[in-house]
Amino acid sequence: MIDFSVYETKQLEIYAYRCPECRAEYYPAPMLCAKCHCRRDPSGIVHKDWDPFPLEGACTLLTWTRVWALPEGYDRPCEMFGIVEFPNGLRAAGRLEAASPVMGMALVARVEESTERPGPPAKVFVFSEA
Ligand SMILES: [Zn+2]
Repeated sequence: MIDFSVYETKQLEIYAYRCPECRAEYYPAPMLCAKCHCRRDPSGIVHKDWDPFPLEGACTLLTWTRVWALPEGYDRPCEMFGIVEFPNGLRAAGRLEAASPVMGMALVARVEESTERPGPPAKVFVFSEA
């Protein structure tokens, strides 16, 4: 039986996953744990699913770029994207909101719903200055 209750929260969250055997953490989640080879089964039928936990809060900017050629739907000339590392070592990409980005700077990650691109709204990471 799949427990969807964790996905039905009002607060927007993006989840990382923890291996139930060796507790290694992943984002995004692989189908096989690299450390103990435990198999992830999102259906929960053959193996139990891994433990999801929200990825958010304090993080460090690893690198960033400014993109000028945005796809249809964006109403501004450019947008900054960054790759951050969380204290647990997990890394994620998302929109960067910093006046003067510097690699190594402290940021805070939150999740927003993006309706700019075509298609259904998508949850995206937004990294802003701490
Ligand atoms: Zn494992």
